[in-house]
Amino acid sequence: MIEFNHVSKTYPDGTKAVDDLNLHIEQGEFFVLIGPSGCGKTTTMKMINGLIDTTDGDILIHDKNIRDYNLYELRWNIGYVLQQIALFPHMTIEENIAVVPDLRKWSKDDIRKRVDELLDMVGLDPDTYRCRKPHELSGGQQQRVGVVRALAADPDIILMDEPFSALDPISREQLQRDIADLQKRIRKTIVFVTHDMQEALALGDRICLMRDGEVVQCGTPQEVLQHP
Ligand code: ADP
Ligand code: ADP
Repeated sequence: MIEFNHVSKTYPDGTKAVDDLNLHIEQGEFFVLIGPSGCGKTTTMKMINGLIDTTDGDILIHDKNIRDYNLYELRWNIGYVLQQIALFPHMTIEENIAVVPDLRKWSKDDIRKRVDELLDMVGLDPDTYRCRKPHELSGGQQQRVGVVRALAADPDIILMDEPFSALDPISREQLQRDIADLQKRIRKTIVFVTHDMQEALALGDRICLMRDGEVVQCGTPQEVLQHP
């Protein structure tokens, strides 16, 4: 599904952020990348959706090299949830969720149906929240919208880069539970970045530890716990 073959990334200033990375992420897998700040997690995520180029090696998605994808097509098929809650402040919740479906020229009816379905999925009553602006929601509620916005056009892959780190501990735990439940229903391929081992163990089907741009260990939560 997502394959990294000997992928390296060196930034123009000479920083080697990712060094000979090999990953094999299965369809429907909840895959966690964990490691200290600066170990190359975000760089890895940005290479998956073509936001930054690789220096060496190949990334395959559905057995096709990402170089052979139209970049827009690639990004539309990959939802991205950022660390910072990044809703457009001047747009309503519905408009925020509808950005990609709109670009894809979905009908107004289809968009409304999808928005309502997505808000329901994360426990936000559509009639109450559809027309609100982001600042009228709590941080946790905004990040829920951030999560479903990434799901809006039904992408195959969802990248989540420390999506809960800006939240208070209670909202964070709640969202972890919600994401775990959501994944049981939708079974998407999720690549999730965190530096919190508890979070990784709670969510991951597989956990991959990175250090200095390299993978040092990769396995199920049980395997990671047995061989720390
Ligand atoms: P993480 O997400 O694990 O914190 P990053 O992928 O953001 O790690 O960064 C990996 C390394 O690459 C770090 O040393 C970081 O400072 C460096 N880096 C990230 N982005 C750039 C950039 N645009 N230019 C130069 N160095 C960068
Ligand atoms: P994260 O919080 O996920 O670790 P960073 O704080 O490392 O992300 O990076 C935030 C932004 O700054 C990214 O766009 C990254 O490419 C850029 N960046 C990070 N480190 C450097 C660096 N050393 N030089 C230039 N840009 C960097």
